[in-house]
Amino acid sequence: MPRTDALNVLERALEMGAGILRLAPTWVPRVAMIPGGRLQLDPRDLYALGPDRGAIDERWLASTTQADNGPATPEDEGLSYIMVEPELGTERILLRDAIDLAGDKILGTAVRENGGWNVLTKFFDTAEPIPFHMHPDDAQAGKVGKSGKAEAYYFPPQLNAVHHRFPLTYFGLQPGTTPDDIKGCLERWDEGDNQILDHSRNYALEPGTAWDVPAGILHAPGTLLTYELQQASDVVAVFQSSHAGRPMPREMLVKDVPPEFHRDLDYIVRMLDWEKNVDSEFERHRRIESMPIGDLEVTRKEGYQELWIIHGSPCFSAKELIVFPGQTATLQDHAAYGLIVIQGRGRVGSLPVESPTRIRFGEMTADELFVTAAAASNVTVMNESDNEELVVLKHFDSGHPGLPSIQNQKIER
Ligand SMILES: [Zn+2]
Repeated sequence: MPRTDALNVLERALEMGAGILRLAPTWVPRVAMIPGGRLQLDPRDLYALGPDRGAIDERWLASTTQADNGPATPEDEGLSYIMVEPELGTERILLRDAIDLAGDKILGTAVRENGGWNVLTKFFDTAEPIPFHMHPDDAQAGKVGKSGKAEAYYFPPQLNAVHHRFPLTYFGLQPGTTPDDIKGCLERWDEGDNQILDHSRNYALEPGTAWDVPAGILHAPGTLLTYELQQASDVVAVFQSSHAGRPMPREMLVKDVPPEFHRDLDYIVRMLDWEKNVDSEFERHRRIESMPIGDLEVTRKEGYQELWIIHGSPCFSAKELIVFPGQTATLQDHAAYGLIVIQGRGRVGSLPVESPTRIRFGEMTADELFVTAAAASNVTVMNESDNEELVVLKHFDSGHPGLPSIQNQKIER
């Protein structure tokens, strides 16, 4: 689309929602994954992109990141579209392009200084655990022209009625594990299962809690529906040579390692943040309990509650907002954010929102928005149901000025 046309579309979108943009759902398939069926996507559409492309087991939110799914990946796969008049379905512009064109208007100057929108948020929905892997940090990924990746996971209770077969995640390494132990596993790559999980520990995943996983930590995510925030990058190194009975190509270990180090196991093991992996208090340091925003006794009387559900990472953060039936809340955030409605219906600013029960592939929904920095300082959220809570998840890039600095504390949900 020519630049002036794109700017016009964006202007209309900003006007229509008074600074709040409506986004279309963004579906992403993954080869060789078993979908968990908890994305509200119609089961007939789980393979809507064709069996070769794999099942749709991810929905990306407020995404400016193209999916890296090999040569068959369409150009806009993984990217969120801003919709201007969704009922017509004709006018749209990629959020990525809008930020390129008018970043200041959308993100405000603070985030613009960071070079755009650097967080990738997704719902991740698998019926099977995924192989044990780590993500390189900025310095390591920089050697192959990419950026590093920290992640955090939150498990929304509203989307986790079904836990599937393995609701546990392997994180880190047993205290006492040595680099030689892990080198030994990598040496045995072609001898079936390299038994690397014997050196790790798994933790039961609890809906309503989260985990902070900086770059360099080994992990094998379990089967809860996961709201995942991560640095917008697709770097990975898989350390497990066999998964669910299938051998893992060694290419998955070294695809983001500079070629001169592909056979250098010392280098590969040094990519791990050793201290964090073998931390004897791993759970205390990495598990995130939600934290109240303001005095919940007071806000609940006013009709709502808001929690930090992901905090403690320098890269991103997230909140859960619940507005009680028939109530209205006005919220202030001094940062732009993406949001997704996971239960109920109502209004955010002037835009109607509702959480769908079942979505056909390619259909529009009214559950996803992007709130620009200017609009974020005063957003009215109205629950129009007399019975059901309105539940909204809000995802932020780095540097939200309201982020708490105090320790975890448990709250009554
Ligand atoms: Zn990961």
